[in-house]
Amino acid sequence: MPRFFVPASDIADGTASVRGSEFRHLQRVLRLREGDHVTLFDDAGTEHAGVVVSLSPRVALVRVTASTMPRRESPLALTLYQGIPKGRKMDLVVEKATELGVQTIVPFHSAFSLGAGAGAGAKRERWQRIAVAAAKQSGRTSVPAIAAPIAFTEVVDAAAAHDLRLLFFEGTGTVPFVALPEPATPPQSAAIAIGPEGGFSRDETAAARDAGFALVDMGPRILRTETAALVAATLVQARWGDLGAAHSHRDA
Ligand code: SAM
Repeated sequence: MPRFFVPASDIADGTASVRGSEFRHLQRVLRLREGDHVTLFDDAGTEHAGVVVSLSPRVALVRVTASTMPRRESPLALTLYQGIPKGRKMDLVVEKATELGVQTIVPFHSAFSLGAGAGAGAKRERWQRIAVAAAKQSGRTSVPAIAAPIAFTEVVDAAAAHDLRLLFFEGTGTVPFVALPEPATPPQSAAIAIGPEGGFSRDETAAARDAGFALVDMGPRILRTETAALVAATLVQARWGDLGAAHSHRDA
């Protein structure tokens, strides 16, 4: 069943308005017609079954026939702080982190991100489109937010907003992930920080530790930044989120 993202603000009185790139995908790529059945998901965690009732040059109207709130979102509000990598690696990180249930992705510049962030603002729109596509494909009922790039100092400042703060580091002074102590209460939100290709500077790891980040080791091999982001998200979601958990079978 074709799935489309529609903001909850575009759903009223049982009718949804599909616009923009989602409309183009519906009308031009999939060539749907009046009477075709679709699934919509909005930014409020709700999924809607619907039928296309009209197509104008810019909007498709869908009559909502049923609405549910399937449990497809992780109970852990996971924020991935990602040192902006070179080239198009961030596209892969965004797509896979979305599939892994990450809630927010925050690209950051740091001492060794070496200008990889140039034009990150323009790339942000592409990254957000990738997140919508990955959320549609993976059956999520919400789309991760891709934040505007920030400096690493702002990552450290933002740390306090999270119950759990893990900076993944392949150097000395780390705790193996498996040896991380269990927090007194299960975390509801977590921040994971992954360095760019050049890694973190000594000052950055020190500042993170002072701000309450645990420096965490993922094992004896050096992972590429894009691999590290996905392994870290997997480890955290498996331990404190819903990865590997039983789930009520998804709707067909
Ligand atoms: N500075 C590293 C070096 O000297 O080769 C390269 C950094 S690595 C390519 C990019 C990021 O992935 C690191 O900053 C860290 O966040 C993460 N990472 C890679 N391997 C890791 C490991 N074994 N344990 C924890 N983090 C790791």
